Amino acid sequence: MNSNETLPICIAGNWRLGQGDRYATLYPATGEAVAWLNAASLADVEEAISGADHAFRTSGWAQRKPHERAAVLYRVAQLIRDQAEYLAQRQRLDNGKPITETRALVASAAGTFQFFAAACETMEDTITPMRGDNLTMSVYEPMGVVAAITPWNSPIASEAQKMAPALAAGNAVVVKPAEVTPLMALELARICEEAGVPKGLISVLPGKGSVIGDAITLHPLVRRVSFTGGTTTGKHIAHIAADKMMPVSLELGGKSPTMVFEDADLDHAVAGVLYGIFSSSGESCIAGSRLFVARGIYDNFIERLAAGAAALRVGDPADERTQLGPLITPRHRDSIESYVAMGVADGGRIRTGGTRPAGALFERGNYYLPTIIEGLTNTQRICQEEIFGPVLVAMPFDNEEELIAQANDSVYALAAGIWTRDYKKAWRFGRAVQAGNVWINTYKQLSISTPFGGWRDSGLGREKGRLGILQYMEQKSMYWGL
Ligand code: NAD
Repeated sequence: MNSNETLPICIAGNWRLGQGDRYATLYPATGEAVAWLNAASLADVEEAISGADHAFRTSGWAQRKPHERAAVLYRVAQLIRDQAEYLAQRQRLDNGKPITETRALVASAAGTFQFFAAACETMEDTITPMRGDNLTMSVYEPMGVVAAITPWNSPIASEAQKMAPALAAGNAVVVKPAEVTPLMALELARICEEAGVPKGLISVLPGKGSVIGDAITLHPLVRRVSFTGGTTTGKHIAHIAADKMMPVSLELGGKSPTMVFEDADLDHAVAGVLYGIFSSSGESCIAGSRLFVARGIYDNFIERLAAGAAALRVGDPADERTQLGPLITPRHRDSIESYVAMGVADGGRIRTGGTRPAGALFERGNYYLPTIIEGLTNTQRICQEEIFGPVLVAMPFDNEEELIAQANDSVYALAAGIWTRDYKKAWRFGRAVQAGNVWINTYKQLSISTPFGGWRDSGLGREKGRLGILQYMEQKSMYWGL
């Protein structure tokens, strides 16, 4: 692909240049332009949403039999698989994740379309006989135009997680990808059309969140927003939604605790803790960024952990051996560096990392070494605020009450990790920790069939799972006298 060419965007099935500002998406490993495109303008938003509403009412998609919609979505899954390597390479260029990770994201996007195709064709409404010649039924209707607003850290997976159930439910969907990573949403829209989703049902509107995202959220024809991103943005969207009485789902930030007990399998725990924080360079909502280790094993564990972190391969995302690629933007790396500086100013000691890697390979990319900081307490800012980078704060704990109090002392409650061989303890802590997702002797394992979401400032609502499709439908109760 010629990186000087300006990509069209998708406005209710019409592929044309956006009317907003022209900008380039940049490869985080080198800063080079991957593609140019024009952001959507407010007029484009209007055209996309009114076009989506028209397509919803006239295309017959919602009226198709569920197995007919499912057949199209199975085709989407197959087309993603057919083009998997192209998509994985494109996603790598778009956000700089290592190729092994982007391949996994593409596979997960295909699995998501397949799962919601199956959920669509096997969904049942309920009919209940009542007294006399009466019966009642509960049915689900599509909502109309729904919006998917997504962040930059795992684009194809986040977008599939919203587009697949929204389309399976019979809706039209307007996707607002992160400004810096618009390519995967455009690819998914193209593939959906190729698979047979009627033109007009999908729009992809890249651009600034505060302009385009806001306009989409405020639009009266948008009946639901499914949002993944930062907590501040999520709260803003929730306010608009409250005014419109519009349902929203909000998948937001995290500051997840990982707890390692004395009786844990330490080889396993070291590998799991490293993966939990440093995969995706820590640019993950579920990153296990606060580590609590039993004091009796603390020194030994941290020594092994620091050696493991220092041995992780930071490098070219195209290289299959790379474990950490660059961060998304220079600005994001600046923010991570200022958190590390704050941790040090507050008395923290850098155990490993704490700097950019040296060498010619790293000069143009937004690289940062996996970093472990000790000597801080859970109340300090670096332990309370989401850094969204490869920075782990490690703390010893002395007893169970203190541990659970600290683990739960956070505005966030998205995920937690527990490492112990004692299953009664794992059960006790698994129940006591406040989090939407708890991993026991593993971390970051995810399944499309299991609901995902957070408590408190980590979000509202759940994605995935068979019932994920119902988020994109309105329930209706009907009563019949026969
Ligand atoms: P962000 O909130 O800045 O942006 C997310 C999306 O919202 C982007 O598309 C952005 O353009 C848009 N947006 C921004 N302002 C808006 C507004 N006023 N109205 C409507 N849309 C607006 O987040 P980010 O920096 O792109 O992503 C990182 C954040 O996402 C982190 O906090 C991370 O934890 C969170 N995240 C959460 C999950 C989850 O499932 N819980 C998954 C991935 C990322």
